[in-house]
Amino acid sequence: MKQLEEMKGLCKYCIGDCARLEDENFEGTYRCTGFEAKEKNWYEKYREELK
Ligand SMILES: [Zn+2]
Repeated sequence: MKQLEEMKGLCKYCIGDCARLEDENFEGTYRCTGFEAKEKNWYEKYREELK
């Protein structure tokens, strides 16, 4: 399984039950299902990254 830090999009900040847990080659998504935030300020970091 890939490290969260290598993920693109939401999954980088997600510890939830999403597709990355099933798919070994999963690259991340901007529409994560089952999203559960890893840290409180994830949204700020996410937005910072999108700039
Ligand atoms: Zn995810």
